[in-house]
Amino acid sequence: MGFAKVFKKEDMQGTQYMVAKSVLDWCKKYQATLDGSDSCFNASGHGHVEYWTCEGNQLLCWKQGGYSTVIDLLTRKLPDPQRELPVTSKVLLNKEVSSISWDHLTNKNPGRVVTECTDGSLYVSEHVIITTSLGVLKERVHSMFHPALPHLKITAIKGLGIGVVDKIFLKFPHRWWPKEGLSLNFLWTEKDTHSFNSGSASKQKQEDKAVNGRWEVAREVMIFGSGME
Ligand SMILES: Cc1cc2nc3c(=O)[nH]c(=O)nc-3n(C[C@H](O)[C@H](O)[C@H](O)COP(=O)(O)OP(=O)(O)OC[C@H]3O[C@@H](n4cnc5c(N)ncnc54)[C@H](O)[C@@H]3O)c2cc1C
Repeated sequence: MGFAKVFKKEDMQGTQYMVAKSVLDWCKKYQATLDGSDSCFNASGHGHVEYWTCEGNQLLCWKQGGYSTVIDLLTRKLPDPQRELPVTSKVLLNKEVSSISWDHLTNKNPGRVVTECTDGSLYVSEHVIITTSLGVLKERVHSMFHPALPHLKITAIKGLGIGVVDKIFLKFPHRWWPKEGLSLNFLWTEKDTHSFNSGSASKQKQEDKAVNGRWEVAREVMIFGSGME
């Protein structure tokens, strides 16, 4: 049964209706946060059917090491730094790739890929693996690849999307929340949302629009307070 019908059937009014509506609204925002979509209508139904949760601890935090710990494991720096494979020493930083010429190359480099950077440097290789964000691919798909990528890939890049998900860190002088990690979720009434969007936040709204292209009220605050007593 649709939520609207439940609201009607239960004859919800006043505070009860307001809370129920706010909770429903929060559910949509929470799901959109997980999906990285701006609304339920932008999320992939297909993705929901195919999604499965990986084994293991979903909140693993690599003992403060972050994602780089994965590299440390792959390069065998962990567990023994003496046995580290020479990978990171070959990584070039501050190199912005401007164009990738693949296929149909001149006789000079048959079967090779030539990658050019904005500083003019050229790199010839057998393969190129690109891990830029989707936004970069969307913006540069027509200028970066020579020849153009196959139609199927261009369609996928155009068809996929990601909404605005921001992370804001708040630091407090002392811990006022329970020791166990927790998640705080806001219920926004229609009045709250309206006054937030049209009132004092209007200046910020414009600035934010300039950065993100859209404005969204806060959905959820996760507090990570380790070490703060
Ligand atoms: C607000 C927010 C909060 C998140 N919170 C979490 C979290 O708590 N836990 C979690 O596990 N994940 C979180 N994620 C997701 C996680 O950050 C991403 O999944 C992860 O960073 C993706 O890594 P990546 O290497 O694929 O892409 P990216 O980190 O986007 O790396 C792409 C790289 O490509 C480079 N690049 C782009 N264009 C070029 C070019 N032309 N030439 C050369 N280099 C280029 C960029 O500089 C960048 O370094 C969060 C994401 C967001 C946005």
